[in-house]
Amino acid sequence: MENTTLRAFKYRLRPTKAQEAQLTETLILCQRLYNGMLEERRGAYRKAGKSLTAYDQMKSLPEVKAALPEYASVNAQVLQDVAKRLDKSFKGFFRRIKAGQKAGYPRFKGRDRYDSFTYPQPSQNSVTADGKHIYLPKIGNVRIRLHRPFAGKIKTLAVKREGAEWYAVLTCEVQKAKLLPPTGSTVGIDLGVNHLVITSDGEFVDNPRFLRSARKRLRVAQRSLCRKKRGSKRRKKAKAAVAKLHLKVRRQRDDLHHKVARKLVQQHDLIAHEELNITGLARTRMANSVLDAGWAGLLDKLASKAEEAGRQLIGVDPRYTSQDCHQCGHREKHSLSVREFTCKGCGAVLNRDINAALNILARALPSVGNVDQRVMRSPRSPVLQGGE
Ligand SMILES: [Zn+2]
Repeated sequence: MENTTLRAFKYRLRPTKAQEAQLTETLILCQRLYNGMLEERRGAYRKAGKSLTAYDQMKSLPEVKAALPEYASVNAQVLQDVAKRLDKSFKGFFRRIKAGQKAGYPRFKGRDRYDSFTYPQPSQNSVTADGKHIYLPKIGNVRIRLHRPFAGKIKTLAVKREGAEWYAVLTCEVQKAKLLPPTGSTVGIDLGVNHLVITSDGEFVDNPRFLRSARKRLRVAQRSLCRKKRGSKRRKKAKAAVAKLHLKVRRQRDDLHHKVARKLVQQHDLIAHEELNITGLARTRMANSVLDAGWAGLLDKLASKAEEAGRQLIGVDPRYTSQDCHQCGHREKHSLSVREFTCKGCGAVLNRDINAALNILARALPSVGNVDQRVMRSPRSPVLQGGE
């Protein structure tokens, strides 16, 4: 087993006005190059049935620079990375086609869609000794806020624009975290709308209102944006306000997900969750709340933390988890508005979401090898909680 892993460390940058202009210019040039290379690939294929590789396109970079002198202001490796990015999206496209999945041909990217560039082989001394600046070739020393230390060998350095803010993302090769000691506990989690998570132990994690209230503010900001004249100064300002709100919501949600995932991983050896088809669900009328809950984001964080700690994370088929009685298996359709699950088969009465979480856990257990008594212990009998 590999004992190193990649970890991303993200820091806020405080560029000067001049540096910010350079960063923006770099993004624009990279975006144009990306679209140009995409055009080139399409053309080569259409005209000659020939597929260009990232290597072919990197080889032609000197010609690009000769024809367009402004590209001299961008680091050569950053430009090479643009070719690699395009290559990656083509590879993903072909892989999906091969797997028989729906796949969209790689698309041209608008300015707003192209928000980062990468130094693929940065210096290990990119961050100055006093930790106050980071050296970005062709840009210079940019002020950085190192709110926590990074560790390991720096593999790549990306510069990212989020709203009006700039960030540096250092991807580092680090030693794998120590595995957590076994706790002998297993848990099933049901993902909800009113509650983010309901566990088979009867614990409820609230889906905080701040997300909903922020979304309301976002709607107002978006409406105001729509009323502004295109290209006007006020529109630009309104646009920045919307981006800032988006960023805030994302950050708050990320924080919550990290916290919830950390706790689950610390407490349980095995965590069972329902396999989600997020896009399918998000299209229903619950869309807003579902997006708020951001289940996919939580599961992502759970997956990486579980892997680091040596915990098992198992996704199970979610069908009927809210209709089956976890005690006797009797299946009955309940109206979604009924919070309490009353089984006509065995008379069990319990909270609907806890019942679902127990079913999810039960479905995961048979798929685990070497199930011993400890794992099979019957879950604490859940009591109805006043959470809702
Ligand atoms: Zn029953």
